[in-house]
Amino acid sequence: MNIILLGPPGAGKGTQARILVEERGMVQLSTGDMLRDAKESGTEMGKKVADVMAKGQLVTDEIVIGLIREKLQTTEANGFIFDGFPRTLKQADALAELLEEMGQKLDAVVELRVQDEALVKRITARSTCGSCGEVYNDITKPIPADGKCINCGGSEFKRRADDNAESLRTRLMEYYKQTSPLIGYYYALRMHSRVDGLGEIGDIKAAVAEKLDA
Ligand code: ADP
Ligand code: ZN
Repeated sequence: MNIILLGPPGAGKGTQARILVEERGMVQLSTGDMLRDAKESGTEMGKKVADVMAKGQLVTDEIVIGLIREKLQTTEANGFIFDGFPRTLKQADALAELLEEMGQKLDAVVELRVQDEALVKRITARSTCGSCGEVYNDITKPIPADGKCINCGGSEFKRRADDNAESLRTRLMEYYKQTSPLIGYYYALRMHSRVDGLGEIGDIKAAVAEKLDA
């Protein structure tokens, strides 16, 4: 089964994707993670996108479609979770073509719906473990007092360069302008369903599962 998790920054796509990976053995393809990896390893492309990402703007369709194409061609999986991709109509068309070339198709698109005020709160409070990627939140899930990650014991935590109020404003604008039209696109294809992304992670997980298994 191949699915898209759709939703604004901070909606919880990454969190739900990690759960699906663990519980269903699917493979998460996050273009945000791929781009951050490229930036950290200092490739030419990574240098090119760093500034665009920090500002909260979208990287070009060519770059992200290229990243996804390469991953799809080199990864064996019994199902992909697309997280942060597609973000434009052009990317959505490209994804359909890539899957078709592989003799596969998209099965479901789950939109995680969260109001802007909650997104801003979540994102400006967010940090992650530098070793395993476990996500923390200053208010709801603070880093333990002993400074060790609950998942791996690591002691380095990072905040994303684009998790600040100004860049977030741009990311939200880009989402409503460029990405939210995908809701109608997939609705017309009868693939779209919506889940309330505000609440307990376990409840949201159950709601996502209900849509996927319907
Ligand atoms: P979030 O959803 O929290 O904003 P991501 O980790 O998915 O963050 O993406 C971070 C940044 O990477 C985006 O703001 C954008 O600059 C770039 N990016 C990620 N995926 C795409 C994409 N599919 N198309 C264009 N840019 C992307
Ligand atoms: Zn960790």
